Amino acid sequence: MKIIILKFGGTSVGSLNRIKKVCKIIISYIKKNYKVVVVSSAMSGVTNDLIKKSNQISNNFPNSEKDVLLSVGEQISCALIAGKLNEMGYTSRSWMAWQIPILTDGAHSASRIIKIKRTKIINYIKGGGIPVITGFQGININNRITTLERGGTDASAIMCAKFFNAYKCIIYTDVDGVFTTDPNLLNSAKKIKEISYDEMLEMASLGSKVMQPAAIQDARLNKIEVDVRSSFNKKKGTTIKRRNKIFNNNVIRGISFTKNDAKITLIGVKDKPGVAANIFKPLYQNSVNVDMVVQNISASGKETDLTFTIKLDDLLKTKKLINSNKKIKYKKILINKNVSKVSIVGVGMITTPGVTYRMFKALAEKNINIEVISTSEIKISVLIDKKYLKKSVEILHKEFNLNSTQ
Ligand code: ADP
Ligand code: ASP
Ligand code: MG
Repeated sequence: MKIIILKFGGTSVGSLNRIKKVCKIIISYIKKNYKVVVVSSAMSGVTNDLIKKSNQISNNFPNSEKDVLLSVGEQISCALIAGKLNEMGYTSRSWMAWQIPILTDGAHSASRIIKIKRTKIINYIKGGGIPVITGFQGININNRITTLERGGTDASAIMCAKFFNAYKCIIYTDVDGVFTTDPNLLNSAKKIKEISYDEMLEMASLGSKVMQPAAIQDARLNKIEVDVRSSFNKKKGTTIKRRNKIFNNNVIRGISFTKNDAKITLIGVKDKPGVAANIFKPLYQNSVNVDMVVQNISASGKETDLTFTIKLDDLLKTKKLINSNKKIKYKKILINKNVSKVSIVGVGMITTPGVTYRMFKALAEKNINIEVISTSEIKISVLIDKKYLKKSVEILHKEFNLNSTQ
């Protein structure tokens, strides 16, 4: 039994016409004798709408109820797909996560799939049915509905591939694959034929939303090869797989960016051990993720300035936490919402000297000021003024030879 997982994203099921097209794709695999398991997202815009409603009706809508509300989106699209497949002469039904069940662990709205029970789905496939499974949702140990993080249908598909021993997992989306940078920002972005889990994970975590980071982690851990391709055409997409199976000379594989960061600077904090910890402890305790950090050298040896970035969504919470933090003293707080983080990613930089220099020089030559820097083994991120985002990506794309076929 050759099982294949087909995942469809929001735009791919964004209208009734798109759903009809998706059904044709599904049938094309059935005709090639695959046993197909479909995993679908909500129709585009639906999840955002539901989030908006929860915020409009309550200032502190519980996350547990939010999960019940948000999971509805996937229920609609899956029923529509299964309904259409029936009309086309195929046996198909929708499967809500709780009916399978898909078991999750972790907090509401940020759960991870730990197990998917095989029996019902495998029996259904053996009987000739096409299961259409709701992505993004699961149930926890208390039988409550949970959701994964945003974009979580990717993770649902990967975990279905793991638990149903699929031969392949194909992520159908609205672009032709993974590109050197977001093709919706830069026309010259090039499709990448093959990319390693490590590079894809880094790119996804740094803002390339074509794949959800947790899904890539799951794929890497379980060695599941993933194809990313378009549901709008038949072009070959991108394969995400193990690093040692890829031959590529490029130092940099891709450029990622974010538009939803905020930069906070505390001016005149005491320059003594423990101060940074005192600032960050309440943030961490309240699930605010601090990303980039820089502390200026103090001229007097007594006071210093501390700059860090957080997600824009966490700004209000962060301001309140800093204001009410009795353990720290500072002279002034500066907040800048007009920043973007631009990152270059590539395993090649481990063995290639001079990448940092090339990045900084290319930006400096166009007078683009770098506000904060952070690095890891396979990425360099810089914080810049948001108005230079496109220009910066363009410059770096050229500098690292990403304009030619990948
Ligand atoms: P889906 O609804 O199918 O899950 P998403 O909107 O989550 O689709 O992801 C696809 C989008 O990811 C594209 O429309 C594109 O704008 C964006 N994107 C960001 N970075 C990249 C990249 N490096 N390659 C391809 N797409 C990217
Ligand atoms: N519908 C969910 C979201 O919009 C999950 C997904 O699309 O993957 O985040
Ligand atoms: Mg997505």
